Amino acid sequence: MKEFSEISTWLSSRGAVHAIPVVETLPQPTFRMNDQNFVSFSTNNYLGLAQHPRMIDKAREGLERYGVGNCESRLLGGDLDIYDQLESKLARLKKKDTALLFATGYLTNLGALSALVKAGQTARIYGYRAKKRHSYAFFSDEYNHISIREGIRLSDADRQTYRHRDLGHLENLLKESTASSKIIVTDGVFSQDGDIAPLPEMLDLAERFDAMVYVDDAHGTGVLGANGGGTTEYFGLDHPRLICMGTLSKAYGAIGGFVATDRHIGDLLRLTCPAYGFTSTLPPDQVYAVSEAIDIVAEEPERRQRLWENQRYFVRSMSRLSYKLLSTSTPIVPILVGDEGATDVLSERLRKERIHVDSVKFPAVPRKQARLRVILNAGHTRRQIDKLVWVLGEYERSSFFPAPSLSAVA
Ligand code: PMP
Repeated sequence: MKEFSEISTWLSSRGAVHAIPVVETLPQPTFRMNDQNFVSFSTNNYLGLAQHPRMIDKAREGLERYGVGNCESRLLGGDLDIYDQLESKLARLKKKDTALLFATGYLTNLGALSALVKAGQTARIYGYRAKKRHSYAFFSDEYNHISIREGIRLSDADRQTYRHRDLGHLENLLKESTASSKIIVTDGVFSQDGDIAPLPEMLDLAERFDAMVYVDDAHGTGVLGANGGGTTEYFGLDHPRLICMGTLSKAYGAIGGFVATDRHIGDLLRLTCPAYGFTSTLPPDQVYAVSEAIDIVAEEPERRQRLWENQRYFVRSMSRLSYKLLSTSTPIVPILVGDEGATDVLSERLRKERIHVDSVKFPAVPRKQARLRVILNAGHTRRQIDKLVWVLGEYERSSFFPAPSLSAVA
């Protein structure tokens, strides 16, 4: 068992094991750390709903009615009516027949992707015999979230990775595949790049190659589209080939994940997905809060308006500097620095000014593509944004700032 201490010591010596900052309050978007106030430009609490009084009141109502947790799994005595009600609401939001709740977004991808292709196998227990042999293949964007990659790995199905948003590459892989059932999997909004998957074109390919398109809309849900319906609503898509995954832990300010699908896939997953049925799910207070969050997003459009105004203001202000923004189409606006050391120096410089921005490096992104992942928030003030841009400008003027070799993508 010595290898664990050996590996851990080796990683520490390379700086890979480092302390994770402990915070005293959660960003909304200001927070306290080491007895000082910071402003976060990296929180997923896009709309500030995690601290919204209506959410807190609703969560309290859930706590008082049910207590702090649901100690039963969904299929074994833990199936409250409030889960069904929230699932129906999520299904309506995503324009699908049905939805399934999971304890987290991560678990949703692990569970749904791994179980989807094993439905026939599970049905054999009940005596089902397929008329012809099914074979499955996943086609996954290289920048998809790790929970997608892990879910696909667990499925044991064939997996192909296409270059980021490269429809030509995806088409070639689909063409070459002999699998009878093909599932294209993509983030809706890419978490480290902030760009949007070209869903309409992907659905065209899905039509041509008889595939499904599974969209992880963790960062689109609640943010994109007229009602916060996410990337699919943004594109005006309501397509039978879509499977819509989302998380409740970002714009909706709570915890949990879901997958919204057609009736058949929903029925199959309910029966065959252990991560849905054989684990405890969201505590009731979270269900109450999320249901309220969906209403707040629709009823308080000014929150999303502020978020987008802040996004546009930041992008406009940054255009006066020479940094490369990897994408400007969502509230995630990553600044490509390239060199990993320079990213840390810049992040530290910002920290001295009480600004927190995630410094994202290998292995989260490819080597030499280190970046500051700026995420705009509805609660940011102009002064906070001005200060961020000012510090970035100072850094640019005061240092030899090597221009990254990658070309920016819109
Ligand atoms: N998918 C994507 C694209 C994400 O960014 C995340 C969270 N970082 C997840 C899934 C997992 O969601 P959760 O935190 O709710 O488990």
